[in-house]
Formats: sequence, structure tokens, C-alpha cells
Amino acid sequence: MIRCPQWPAPASNRAGTLPRSRWPVGGGVPCLLTGLALLILLTACQTTPVPGSRAKRTGDEIIVAGQLFHTGTRVVTWLDAGGYDAYRVERRFSALTNADWASSAREVKALETPNRYGLRRDRLTPEQIEQVRGGGWELALLTNVVDQFVIHFDACGTSRQCFKVLHDLRGLSVHFLLDVDGTIYQTLDLKERAWHATTSNSRSVGIEIAQIGAYPPARAKVLDEWYRTEPDGRVRITIPERFGDGGLRTPGFVGRPVRHERVRGRIQGIELEQYDFTPEQYRALAHLTAALCRIFPKLTCDYPRDSAGRAVPVKLPDEELGRYQGLLGHWHIQTDKVDPGPAFQWDKLVREARELSRPARAVESPKGRAIRAGRPQSGGRAGDPP
Ligand SMILES: [Zn+2]
Repeated sequence: MIRCPQWPAPASNRAGTLPRSRWPVGGGVPCLLTGLALLILLTACQTTPVPGSRAKRTGDEIIVAGQLFHTGTRVVTWLDAGGYDAYRVERRFSALTNADWASSAREVKALETPNRYGLRRDRLTPEQIEQVRGGGWELALLTNVVDQFVIHFDACGTSRQCFKVLHDLRGLSVHFLLDVDGTIYQTLDLKERAWHATTSNSRSVGIEIAQIGAYPPARAKVLDEWYRTEPDGRVRITIPERFGDGGLRTPGFVGRPVRHERVRGRIQGIELEQYDFTPEQYRALAHLTAALCRIFPKLTCDYPRDSAGRAVPVKLPDEELGRYQGLLGHWHIQTDKVDPGPAFQWDKLVREARELSRPARAVESPKGRAIRAGRPQSGGRAGDPP
């Protein structure tokens, strides 16, 4: 940053608009050089923000190695009011008087270390680990490491409850929470190794979609508490009273699954019942997926498919998982997991994310004049200015 002289008012700092009396007096070459130097200085000052002026954020940005990238959908980061901050060592929802780390470690056995996240070190050289151990990452190094996006359901029902379970009770973390109303919460910079998917933690970004989950038919009574079929046949989400308002940011929000009948399917060979996710969740997830696939060039916008093009419904063999670069479910990583469940529509997500990723195209207006098709805001390629 270039230090600028103190001008009477920022609005008068444009070269060529200064009153004549402000130009250097005198003549000849020295004066010309002085004038030229002043002009260069003034030009530089035009691009230097006024100290104390606000840097613009629109509320759809995610944070990747300290840089902001648009998603085109609402994102609440850990820095925002009402956000969930996985960097804090104290518990978020316990009584404030014993939320501190020492009390938390004493009272909750699962909390073993104050940090619920670690360093993405698996693919780094010792020199690179030294570079990033303090927390600062070059974006180019990070985009070389991240190549998987792991999708979970949280089995908690709401993002607030999910953060409570992860952070306060289990000592775990995930980069994103996606609430029932489509609000995305980012809890950590994507440079961090969140603890959500065992062997894939070092190379992946994770998201927990708020939903009570999928159950074998014998245990599917849980769904009766979380979903109610209305007289017109539509299904709505009913957050049990013990969770209060659920912490949703959209006042009066009524959540409904995309499909109103329960979905049955097999994951890891287990028959499961599940309701679908809400349209708000699919829409937000498509935006986030499109952004991530653009920011991380190794992250392919596709999911593990069988020979018929359907989602592979079991864990991937270790070797295949090691090679795999793209979207995947928690079930593709661990045999003891079934999320995001048989109702999750991989084809819908990928179709919508790809559509959002396509460059703006010219379309004909009704009067025949070429106009630009509206595109959501999306992040620049890695390495672009934020
Ligand atoms: Zn999971």
C-alpha cells in the first residue's frame, strides 16, 4: 500500500480536478517532473481505499485460505453474528460459567483436545508443513490438496443441534452446516482439516445437511416425530418442542421435503426409510457445489457411479477411494455410515451445480435483442483475485 498525503477530502483527490492553485509553482523540467510524480502519486491514491472505509461483502461468500468467494446463496460464516465458530475452544451451549476449556475437558470425556480440527498435512512435504503450520496457506497449495467434497446428513435435524453435538459433545468439526431453510453456515476456513470423514479428512471439504436421517423400517418411528402429513397430503417438517424454534434464521419457515412420500432404498446393503431434503437445501447445496468445483480444479462435479450411471450404494474399495476426486457421501468412505441416505438425489445436485457453473450465455430477448442470461455469482478460478 502506498501512503498518500492527507488531502482535504477524498472526493477531491482525482487527478485533473484539483484547483490550479494546488499544482506546483515554477517552470521548466524540474516542475514537469514534480508534476509527473504528483500525477503518479494521485493515480496510486485513487486505488487505495480510504482508511476506515468498509470492504463490501454481500453475504454469500465462503472463506478459502483467507480469501472470499461468492456462492450466490446465503452463507453465515463463523465471523458473522449468529454464526457457529469451530475455532473457539470453549463450549457454545453449556452454561457460560463452565464453558471454558478446562471445565469442558473435565465434564465431557469425548473432548480430548481444545482444537476440534487439525492440519491438512497428508500430501505436504516437511517444508510445506513448516510453511502452513502457523495457519496461513497459499491458495494454490490448498487447491492442490483438496479434491473431495463429502456430503453428510447430521441426524440432528437442525444445524444448531448439529453444532452442539459436534463441538460441545463429541469434539468433532465440519466446514459447512446446511440448515433446513437453506442457510449455509461455514464454521472453519477450508484450509483446516475438519474432523468429519476419517481417512478423507486431509483432502476433503465436508458438509452436514440438517435432517433427522434414514432408518431401517423397524426404527423408522423416529420419522413420525419429525414429519407430519397434512390433510392435503403434503408433508411438513415438525421440529420437536424440546429443540425450541430450532434456531432457523428464516422467521416462520415451513420446511417440506422435495418428495412427499418416504423413500426406501439400500445403503451398505441395509434397507432404509428416509424423507427427501428440502428444495431450499438442494438449491443452496447446488450453489455451494458449483463454487467449490470451480475453486478446487481437482474436485470433479460428479459422484461415484456404477456401470448403469447410478450412485454406488456401498463404500468404495480403498484403492478406488484413494483415486477418487469429486463429490461423495460419507457412506462411500466408511462401512458403518449410511449418510446422506437413499433419498439424496445425486443426479439433481450435479445437474443443478453444472448448470450454475456454465458460463453466461447470450439469449434472445422477445424483441430480438441479444441479452445476457442471468447467472448467479460464482467464485473465480483459484488464483484469481477474490
Ligand atoms: Zn456422516
